[in-house]
Amino acid sequence: MIEVKEKHLKILTVVIAVILTYIIISLTYTYSYRYEIKKFEYYTFYAVAFYTLIIISSWFLMGNIIGSTIAGLSVAIAVFVAAVFQRWEFLSNCFAFIAVCLSLYGFCNRQNHEISDIKIKTGDISETANTLAKDFQKENLWGESLDRKLLRISKLRVVSKDIGVSLTKGEFIKKVIKNTIQIIQKPGVYQLYLLTEDMRTMELMGLNAYNVKSDDFTYFEKDDLNQWIFRNRQPVHISDLNKDFRFGRKYGSLAKSIIASPLISDNKIMGILKINNEVPEVYSVDDLRILSIIANLSALAFSNSQLYETTRLLAIKDGLTGLFTAGYFRQKIAEYVKQDAGKPLSLIMMDIDDFKQFNDKYGHVVGDIVLRKTAGEIQAIIGQKGIAARYGGEEFACILPGISDRTAFDFAGKICASISSSEETIRENKIRVTISAGVASMVPVFQSAEDLIEAADNSLYDAKRQGKNRAVLWEKN
Ligand code: GH3
Ligand code: MG
Ligand code: MG
Repeated sequence: MIEVKEKHLKILTVVIAVILTYIIISLTYTYSYRYEIKKFEYYTFYAVAFYTLIIISSWFLMGNIIGSTIAGLSVAIAVFVAAVFQRWEFLSNCFAFIAVCLSLYGFCNRQNHEISDIKIKTGDISETANTLAKDFQKENLWGESLDRKLLRISKLRVVSKDIGVSLTKGEFIKKVIKNTIQIIQKPGVYQLYLLTEDMRTMELMGLNAYNVKSDDFTYFEKDDLNQWIFRNRQPVHISDLNKDFRFGRKYGSLAKSIIASPLISDNKIMGILKINNEVPEVYSVDDLRILSIIANLSALAFSNSQLYETTRLLAIKDGLTGLFTAGYFRQKIAEYVKQDAGKPLSLIMMDIDDFKQFNDKYGHVVGDIVLRKTAGEIQAIIGQKGIAARYGGEEFACILPGISDRTAFDFAGKICASISSSEETIRENKIRVTISAGVASMVPVFQSAEDLIEAADNSLYDAKRQGKNRAVLWEKN
């Protein structure tokens, strides 16, 4: 079927209608003239032709409503003229024109219907094609995102292993940031906040700007979103901070896109994992979901590492005094003797004087309080310079690596003086204890750590013999 354009069809119809009308009028008049019914009159011919042209043109070109109105008016005028002037041929001509118009109109309408049918069908087909194309595109995208999801999930398995084996806090922080970047793979400032020891504030512990244009990351710390997450313990997805009614401008951050998730393990919040970007709408809900999984895995790993650290400390720290255990002391001194041969290494051995009597007088509970207090004083004087341990019941030892015998002796003197000068009131009794100390330093004649310990012990024995509450330095006889 040849597609005829609607406009062309209308023009063609008008032309055909005019020609047909002229033919009908001519025939009518020729017939009338021949049979002398009426004389041929040209003005009627022109008037009718003009009418026809107007009716048909308006009908087809201006639409059905205007066309039919003009046709109706024409009929009315034709009837009026015919009646007033007694020219009935006027009327018959008029009907002829209308008959031509109607038949042409019917023809055109059918044509138009067919065309519009075809158009509808073509439209339907193209719509179906469009829908199919869209579906295909969607399936494709879905397939793509499914691939990405699978990739991310497979990476997540690696993350849980990787973060899980980090034993120190520093290692843990680095691994969390590194793995988050590897999985999310979107530009942004990646941050890990951890709860401070007072359990009240979040401290920024790890930060890495990945593919970010701006050099100024300081503003990423300004927002108080952490407080919100800390209180609500919920992940947050913000497409554009300025438009987000929950936070809006009141948080005063320049970051636009933010995703953040709390690190929660055992119902305790221990940190926040967050990604910021100054460009809006960077992160999807799916990104947040992945971030939350990483945050949960990290929280678990972190609490495990803390548990590990606690267990490790429990194994090497004495429960009563908080000093290192005798086992740890032996291990460490052996290490120092072996590794740092040639470097100065001093040792102080201490024992509380007449502690048996003290216990008998005040009881073991008071004795324990004094033990703890004495340990605290030793630790305060030694600080980071050495390793203070509880060597036995009321015996203490300090390893002082890199410290000469003289300096070690000074430390021992300070410890004795400090303990003997501090007085404690327990159960209305003024209590005071003294301590004796033996000091020795590593010298070439010592073969092992045991020799050093023995020398310090001998000096301690000397201190006791010399009247207690003093320090004695080991000297080669
Ligand atoms: P010296 O001046 O010669 O050291 O006399 P001393 O009484 O301290 O003698 P010794 O070191 O032999 O006595 C150790 C006492 O320390 C025995 C025990 O009653 C006490 N003791 C040991 N371990 C603990 C402890 O964990 N708590 C308490 N309260 N007392 C302890
Ligand atoms: Mg003792
Ligand atoms: Mg003693």
